[in-house]
Amino acid sequence: MAATIWYDKDADLSVFDGKKVAILGYGSQGHAHALNLRDSGVDVVVGLRPTSKSVEFAKEQGLEVKSVGEAVAEADVVMILLPDQYQAAVYKNDVEPNLKPGAALAFAHGFNIHYGYIKPSADHPVFMVAPKGPGHIVRREYAAGRGVPVVVAVEQDPDGKTWDLTLAYAKALGALRAGAIKTTFTEETETDLFGEQDVLMGGINHLTEMGFQVLTAAGYQPEIAYFEVFHELKMLVDLANEGGLNKARWSCSDTAQYGDFTSTVIDEHTRKNMEYQLKRIQDGSFAKEFMDDQAAGAPKFKALQEEYSHPQLETVGPKLRAMFSWNNGPAKDADETESFTGKIARAQVQ
Ligand code: NAD
Ligand code: MG
Repeated sequence: MAATIWYDKDADLSVFDGKKVAILGYGSQGHAHALNLRDSGVDVVVGLRPTSKSVEFAKEQGLEVKSVGEAVAEADVVMILLPDQYQAAVYKNDVEPNLKPGAALAFAHGFNIHYGYIKPSADHPVFMVAPKGPGHIVRREYAAGRGVPVVVAVEQDPDGKTWDLTLAYAKALGALRAGAIKTTFTEETETDLFGEQDVLMGGINHLTEMGFQVLTAAGYQPEIAYFEVFHELKMLVDLANEGGLNKARWSCSDTAQYGDFTSTVIDEHTRKNMEYQLKRIQDGSFAKEFMDDQAAGAPKFKALQEEYSHPQLETVGPKLRAMFSWNNGPAKDADETESFTGKIARAQVQ
């Protein structure tokens, strides 16, 4: 069955006339949604904890900022862009008690609805606009006149108008310049978790780190190893992004192509591992493990973050990236906080 795909011509921004959209959270996705919608002419209010460092960042961008409860109370659409593990508590304490009758609830990931951590009453439209890219790229692409594609879904449609609203939201985000693909909360949640666990992060990140370790353990210079297993990755991905794996291969030597085709690194064992990960996503055990750890104060998650923030790959990277004359330090995004730049600085002195 061919996918249903919508573009700018399929959506109407007048859906937002006289309506207010609350964006809860001002992190990776939150800042991008708030700024893109505002720049598309939508009336936006950002909902944050008054103590949040993001309050200043959002105000600096000319956005109206209120507490979560106040923002929800005046909104016709509430987009929840908080970390997935905190959404249920914020929903119960600050969203549900303040939600206007018939106000729509929106998500950028189906996790809390799909696994039942949030159960909105049936009179509220519930939809999803999930960008298939990091929030900072959602903002940068919009500002460049382009957009990051999204997948869209409707879970509850009490007024029969939820699809119009969903597509209008995607258009205001700039996403329909690239396209929106119709999905369901179930499909988005399960495939999104699979993508990050098995390929985009859990696959590539471990693959590059392992490659780096194997080369350096064999006595090769870390700087050379960094270039070979990491730096060139972006260039190949850029080519693949333009013209598929065929284009990336076309630009590489015959030697490289032959090595690619005959490589035994990814094998049937990898497929079995992927199927195992997928099963744990489908039966909810991955979600439960993550949420239970979070509820206990995230001991396992924090230990893993600490463990993975110091690989040697990260210590070589900043030095080499600084070699490029056109690279004046890491790109600065509108909501960039100390936590990220601080992490880089710490990694540099390890
Ligand atoms: P984030 O961690 O970058 O930002 C979360 C924001 O919520 C921050 O502004 C934080 O201050 C605020 N916040 C945290 N706890 C809060 C609380 N208790 N009350 C009020 N505000 C609170 O999160 P993110 O990565 O933008 O993720 C948001 C949603 O978007 C998630 O559902 C995620 O799955 C989804 N998503 C993220 C990406 C991405 O690029 N990061 C891509 C697609 C979908
Ligand atoms: Mg994803």
